[in-house]
Amino acid sequence: MPLRDDITHQGIGMTSQRTRERLLERLFEDGIRNLHVLEAMRRTPRHLFVDEALAHRAYEDTALPIGHNQTLSQPYIVARMTELLLAGGPLDKVMEVGTGSGYQTAILAQVVERIFSVERIMPLQERAKAILKEINVRNVVFRHADGNWGWPQYGPYDAILVTAAPPVVPPELLNQLADGGRLVIPVGEHQQVLTLVRRQGDQFIHEAVEPVRFVPLLAGAIHS
Ligand code: SAH
Repeated sequence: MPLRDDITHQGIGMTSQRTRERLLERLFEDGIRNLHVLEAMRRTPRHLFVDEALAHRAYEDTALPIGHNQTLSQPYIVARMTELLLAGGPLDKVMEVGTGSGYQTAILAQVVERIFSVERIMPLQERAKAILKEINVRNVVFRHADGNWGWPQYGPYDAILVTAAPPVVPPELLNQLADGGRLVIPVGEHQQVLTLVRRQGDQFIHEAVEPVRFVPLLAGAIHS
């Protein structure tokens, strides 16, 4: 496991082990059953991924701001999306679009082999990189770019996870999905639906999972 125990318990006084265990119970009650996902959620210090002023709320099941008008998803959604990706069996190469704080990346990094993570806002990417390094996550490479275009160089991917919502699924992401691969993505503008797309040859099977609320998937990459 890539997470060092001394790091996963850093600041544990403030964010007590009990609070973290309660979050786990809640995820289980809400239907998260994949033990690898639950274990990753238990080990990962979410408080390191948010502003210090919000650290005391890091183990509530709620979305939190991470600056630049972006938000770290609610733990339930992070767990659910990860579980949906894994439901088809073990994953080698996974592309993530929307690194943000890096929290979802940290969870994913513990349950798949390799991650290719794309983020359009440079300072968010830099910060995520630093925290992931600090907690010893080593199987992630980063790209500063518009994720609407994926990361063709390393594709096709066994799975793709998108954590910002486009109005429709970007065709390039479908192109970069391996045969048998799974794409999990929030889709829509005002009403968004978490969507699972499975590729079978040239067929793409779309399945609506549940209503969600994500920030929009925007165009272009920016430096500040
Ligand atoms: N998964 C992140 C939070 C996601 S917030 C976490 O765990 O913290 C959505 C993220 O998607 C933001 O960081 C936003 O900048 C990014 N994003 C939005 N549009 C994008 C695009 N076209 N390409 C890459 N990243 C994008």
